Amino acid sequence: MSDNCLFCKIARGDIPSKKVYEDEEVFAFHDINPVAPVHFMLIPKLHLSSLLEAEVEHAALLGKMLLLAPKLAREQGLESGFRTVINSGKGGGQEVFHLHIHIIGGGNIPPMVKRS
Ligand code: 5GP
Ligand code: ZN
Repeated sequence: MSDNCLFCKIARGDIPSKKVYEDEEVFAFHDINPVAPVHFMLIPKLHLSSLLEAEVEHAALLGKMLLLAPKLAREQGLESGFRTVINSGKGGGQEVFHLHIHIIGGGNIPPMVKRS
């Protein structure tokens, strides 16, 4: 836990959010500014700034999150699939420096990379 981290505060319940899922290790909640009909984030309760700070010791936690993502996506109605996005570091466009997996779907999800 980090005292000054927005997502640590959300995971603790100090800042309200629309919760999707919680257990002892992870927390999921809807994005305040969704880019699609369904857009939520899955975070570890452990404060990790980004994937750039992840180590081998976090492998089980990260694996658990990847396996949980499709389960939560289905529960949110994304039966036909979803997009995951993990922005890592300033160079990756990350804005909140607590590792999070965006889970996005519903409506029209365009190809992420357009090639001419
Ligand atoms: P990033 O750009 O770091 O990958 O994503 C940060 C995400 O956090 C953005 O999609 C933004 O809309 C979301 N966000 C920022 N502040 C809050 C907040 O206070 N509550 C919630 N639920 N989402 C937030
Ligand atoms: Zn944090």
